[in-house]
Amino acid sequence: MNVSVGAAGQIAWVLGIIAWYIIRYPFERRAKRVRVVTDRRSGVEVFGLATALFGLAAVPGFYVATGIPRWADYEAHVWAVVLGALCFFAAMWVFRRTHKELGRNWSISLQIRDQHELVSGGPYALVRHPMYTSFLLMGVGQAFLLANWVVGLAGLLGFAVLFFLRVDKEERMMLEVFGPRYREYMDRTKRIIPYLY
Ligand code: SAH
Repeated sequence: MNVSVGAAGQIAWVLGIIAWYIIRYPFERRAKRVRVVTDRRSGVEVFGLATALFGLAAVPGFYVATGIPRWADYEAHVWAVVLGALCFFAAMWVFRRTHKELGRNWSISLQIRDQHELVSGGPYALVRHPMYTSFLLMGVGQAFLLANWVVGLAGLLGFAVLFFLRVDKEERMMLEVFGPRYREYMDRTKRIIPYLY
């Protein structure tokens, strides 16, 4: 029973990651055609992105393929897989909404594009960093879908490293570019959790 519950969690995670890429791919292609006018990429940035990729993709991908590290496995539960699938589904829904809303202003990194607009509608009306909210939801989803302590923690850790290395810099960059408009936007929104943080 629990072997198949564990397998169901792993299949759900794989489907979730495929959905992630299907959502992102067209934006990556389109972004190449929009000129970058301000670029704040740095070694720290690249490290943050690499850590997130490692924790949210490489570690769980390796685990699903090989079962390593087996010593950190625990028993899979139906409720956890259901909860994890719901989190992942919510993550992908928010992820898609943020891409649609950012449109041509999207960048994988800290960049301002030609004729960059300040987006404050849709999910951006509730929080300033809804895409990072979706990464957090992915991390929580991963922790519930894959019954392994190391893999569960890796996603949340990857998210935390990316988020905390980046968020202050991103807000500073937005303040420099949009001035009081971003300040006012900051005053009426939270960072990643509506009404809380
Ligand atoms: N932090 C946001 C966006 C992540 S993508 C989120 O979590 O949803 C990163 C790029 O988005 C940054 O390079 C910045 O140029 C751009 N960006 C961030 N917030 C924005 C906003 N409110 N309006 C327009 N562009 C924004």
